[in-house]
Amino acid sequence: MKGARGEALLALEVSGELSLACQRCLEGIRFTVDIDSRLELVPEGAEMSQDELEDDSRDFLPVAGVLEVAGLIEDEILLALPVAPRHERCGLPGAAEAGERISPFAGLAGLKGKPN
Ligand SMILES: [Zn+2]
Repeated sequence: MKGARGEALLALEVSGELSLACQRCLEGIRFTVDIDSRLELVPEGAEMSQDELEDDSRDFLPVAGVLEVAGLIEDEILLALPVAPRHERCGLPGAAEAGERISPFAGLAGLKGKPN
């Protein structure tokens, strides 16, 4: 896949439902994963301009040799998961459904596109 500038792009889409354990009551919580990322592949160690590094609309993925796609997908899913999943209120019937939906992207957005 090529982007508008002819750059190599990796389109990563992951969706599905996971069952996590509530950190308070240990009952299950359903968590929907919906990842849609566009990563620009750049050779590892490539010189990047300051403009490129500061462009929050682009995500760069340094690649050395063979791209480990399976590990990459795993990393993206782990990033999307809440660190400590909890029901909004534990022990109530329907608590899992009524619980506040945690946006996985609120935390993820802050992590992406930064050089460090
Ligand atoms: Zn709970």
